Amino acid sequence: MLTNKLVGFTCSYTPLPLIHAAGYAPYRLFPLDNSKDSAGHILHDNLCPHVKKILDRGIDNNTPEMSGVVFMNSCDAMRRLFDGWRKARPNDKAILIDFPATSDDSAINFFALELSRLWKELWEWNGRVGDLSSIKQSISIYNDLYSLFSDVTSKIRKARLKDGNLKIQELYNKASTEPPENIIPILKNLQASINSALDNDSNSVPIFLFGNVLYELDAFKLFNDCGAFICDDDLCTGSRLFYPINITEEEDLFLSLSKSIFSRSFCARTFDPKYPLKFAEDILNKAKACNAKGVIAHVLKFCDPYLIRLPIVREILKENSLPLLVLEGDCTLRSIGQQKTRIEAFIEMLR
Ligand code: SF4
Repeated sequence: MLTNKLVGFTCSYTPLPLIHAAGYAPYRLFPLDNSKDSAGHILHDNLCPHVKKILDRGIDNNTPEMSGVVFMNSCDAMRRLFDGWRKARPNDKAILIDFPATSDDSAINFFALELSRLWKELWEWNGRVGDLSSIKQSISIYNDLYSLFSDVTSKIRKARLKDGNLKIQELYNKASTEPPENIIPILKNLQASINSALDNDSNSVPIFLFGNVLYELDAFKLFNDCGAFICDDDLCTGSRLFYPINITEEEDLFLSLSKSIFSRSFCARTFDPKYPLKFAEDILNKAKACNAKGVIAHVLKFCDPYLIRLPIVREILKENSLPLLVLEGDCTLRSIGQQKTRIEAFIEMLR
């Protein structure tokens, strides 16, 4: 369903196919650095800069026209963002969806109910009644988008195409703010035209990149300039955006969607109590699978879930002789630019 009506979202756990099926284009509210710094009037200073910069945009009216905004109760800072948004923009339509912190059966069943609540609310914003068949169509479109992204990113990274990671991030950013129907033809063209013999960047050092929010193209250019080649990523604004969604005729659609969201790669805020080392071991396995020589973590200041997990990630990577560089960011290019010397030194050490 190609539409210009936007619904904002702020977190990669947001069920984009539901927003799409209700007749909207999901629009990611990136934490742009071009609004007045005013969120501190509503939220505490020591809060995640991702959340504060999004609220700055809301206060500054630095957003396109949106029919509503979907917030995920994924971490406390995101929960506060919902409160702050309602205070700053009381006339906006907004909904907060609870996303459980653990991933057992009761969490999956609970989240399916939350998805059904979201579905009803999205149609209320539309003033119409939803048709479940549109969810299947949207899931099919998002599955196409996932397959294309997987194929194109793996080809670009396998061939180590020069500036390939800039291209990938540019497309992730576009796919976060425009309908999937706009992105699928671009990915198909790219898929047909990737030629591994051209512009191969074989001198750079393969690095696995993980963290939460990093979407600025200049940041990826900086990695290139420092001699790094991102051979795979695990970012909220990167590979975690799209995932396969399996549906069957027999199963409730919301339950299938919930199961699929819980089967994808998690950020640090989701925890499996039966398997506490999973987050760190997943990072190790992904880094090994792409033959990385080192790992870079880009985490935002005051992001407790990541800061809490980093010591065990460091320990497990060290046991496996994979060096880790941690970069702390504040959603400005200034902060990552200041880390240039550290990134260069890290890459030189790995050569
Ligand atoms: S770090 Fe986790 S909770 Fe925060 S925006 Fe990313 S996916 Fe959402």
